[in-house]
Amino acid sequence: VIEIRGLHKAYGSLEVLKGVDLVAPRGHVVSLIGSSGSGKSTLLRCCNLLEDSQQGEVIFEAEPVRWRGEGLHRHPADKAQVRRIRTNLSMVFQQFNLWSHLTILQNVMEAPVTVLGRDRAEVEAKAREYLAKVGIADKADAWPAQLSGGQQQRAAIARALCMEPRALLFDEPTSALDPELEQEVVRVIKALADEGRTMLIVTHDMKLAADVSDHVIFLHKGLIEEQGAPGAVFGAPKSERLRQFLSATM
Ligand code: ATP
Ligand code: MG
Repeated sequence: VIEIRGLHKAYGSLEVLKGVDLVAPRGHVVSLIGSSGSGKSTLLRCCNLLEDSQQGEVIFEAEPVRWRGEGLHRHPADKAQVRRIRTNLSMVFQQFNLWSHLTILQNVMEAPVTVLGRDRAEVEAKAREYLAKVGIADKADAWPAQLSGGQQQRAAIARALCMEPRALLFDEPTSALDPELEQEVVRVIKALADEGRTMLIVTHDMKLAADVSDHVIFLHKGLIEEQGAPGAVFGAPKSERLRQFLSATM
C-alpha cells in the first residue's frame, strides 16, 4: 500500500531522514521503533505527505508522488493526488486531537461528510458501527472532555476508521495514557491487526510491536539500523545499538 524509497528529509540544516526505505504491503503491520529524535514521526508524516521531503520516492498503491521543484523547494505537484493519499492513510496521534466542540459521534462523522462528501445518514450508521467496534457505542453523544484518555483515543481510532482508509498510521497511540488505559487501546489495535488491516505504527511499546507486527524497523539517527520479523528484531538483535536500545526500554 505504501512504499518509501531512499527518502531524505531535512529541517533547514538538520538532516532527519538520510535515505530510508520502507514497504507496508496490504494487510501487513509495520512498526517503527527507535530513540527519541531518530525520525520516526517525521517518517510517518512523510508517508501521508504531512511533510515534504527533499529526495527519494513516496509511492502509494503503485502510484509515485509527482513532485515539482528540487531539494528544499520540492513539493507535491498534484493537489488531488495529495488529497487522495491523505484521505487513504488515516492518522491517529498521540494526543487524540478530537474536536472539543463536537460530540464523539460528530467527531467521527466530520471528515467523511465534509472531506469526502458522503451521505450523512450512511456515515452516521458507519460511525456508530465503528464506535461499537472500539467499545464506546454508548459515548456517541458525549463530549470529548467527558471521556477518559483511553476512550478518547478509541474515539480517534473510530474516526480514522470511518474514513475507510487503505491504511492506518499510528504515532505513539498509547504514550499519553496511563498503563491501565493503554491496554484498552492496545486491544483495539490488536483486533485491527487480526482483521488484516494495513498499519504503520510508531510505538515505544515493545510488547505491542512484538505482538502485532509482521515487520519491525529500528530507526537510528535517520537511518534504518536493523529490521526484520519481530522474533528476530526482539529475540536476536544483531546490531549493538539495537541491543542497547532494547535493554534500555524493555
Ligand atoms: P520521539 O520519539 O521523541 O517522538 P521521533 O523519532 O518521532 O522522536 P521526530 O519527531 O521525527 O523524532 O524528530 C526527528 C528530529 O527532527 C528531531 O531532532 C526533531 O527535533 C526534529 N524536528 C521534528 N520536527 C521538526 C520541525 N517541525 N522543525 C524542526 N525540527 C524538527
Ligand atoms: Mg515522535
